[in-house]
Amino acid sequence: EEPLVAVEGLSVDFDTPRGTIQALRDIDLTVPKGKVLGIVGESGCGKSTLAYSLIGLLAENARVAGGAIRMGEHDLARLGAAGWRDLRGTRVAMIFQDPMTALNPVTTIGQQMLDIQYRDRISRSEKRARAVEFLEQVQIPDAASKLDAYPHQLSGGMRQRVCIAMALLTQPDLLIADEPTTALDATLEMQIVALLRELQQKFGCSVVFVSHHLGTVAELCDDVAVMYAGEVVERGSARSLFHDPQHPYTQALLDCDPARIKIATRTLPTIPGTLPDLRQPPRGCAFRARCPHAWGRCEREHPPLYPGAAGQRVRCHLSDPAEDAA
Ligand code: SF4
Ligand code: MG
Repeated sequence: EEPLVAVEGLSVDFDTPRGTIQALRDIDLTVPKGKVLGIVGESGCGKSTLAYSLIGLLAENARVAGGAIRMGEHDLARLGAAGWRDLRGTRVAMIFQDPMTALNPVTTIGQQMLDIQYRDRISRSEKRARAVEFLEQVQIPDAASKLDAYPHQLSGGMRQRVCIAMALLTQPDLLIADEPTTALDATLEMQIVALLRELQQKFGCSVVFVSHHLGTVAELCDDVAVMYAGEVVERGSARSLFHDPQHPYTQALLDCDPARIKIATRTLPTIPGTLPDLRQPPRGCAFRARCPHAWGRCEREHPPLYPGAAGQRVRCHLSDPAEDAA
């Protein structure tokens, strides 16, 4: 089946006073229809940049340096402001790390939920009823009474639920969630993740879920892409990634013990060493300096995404079938 979104060779640069940062390098991945794709990696790996490029909200100093993001007849990497006015909040919606990014602090929840329905040709009272219905969908108690509340009158968890309701109200094909539970405690996080899963299944939309929390990704996602230093280093089904990780970076994240991800680790394990300087990405494998298996070839040759046995793709020369033969 044709995917909802196909990211093809996407590269994004950031111009900074200290030089050009190659934040995303040659990203290839697909978002299947009606599935959840998790994007994991350390902070600075480019996962948020990828999420923001899917909804056309890259920073001012960002520049698409190559590639495409195909969704139907559109190339989201090259859509102008007018194109985004048609797609953002209709076909593509986003839930942010901080709910206050999306909420207007001086407008009631009800008014914001009416405003978001400005395209819909239904009466004001019907829009109000839909707003209440969606607040109920995200399990906000006594939903009707919350329409008159201002964002600051709600708890952080309730605010994020409102944001999910507002995103779903636009009935998007693609919902992007950038670490939506980072600001919440572990119990609330589990509730929100369970809610997202339930609503995703009910509404049938595709979700891109950005997270540095492996347990959450294992719980929620059908497919996973692991990012390192602006590249996808491994992607495949959540099952293959968590049960049979192939890339040394994925293995390090999982500490070679899939049982570990069941523990409520809320952060990625720390792997010794630091990310390479993305102003001058290394010539060979970007993970080389931290990899316990690195050898000469890793310094000379940049690894492509080799096909793995379980349908996954792995950016590591160890997965090169020719290495087996040798
Ligand atoms: Fe390690 Fe080499 Fe594989 Fe890179 S290509 S992850 S350095 S073994
Ligand atoms: Mg981020």
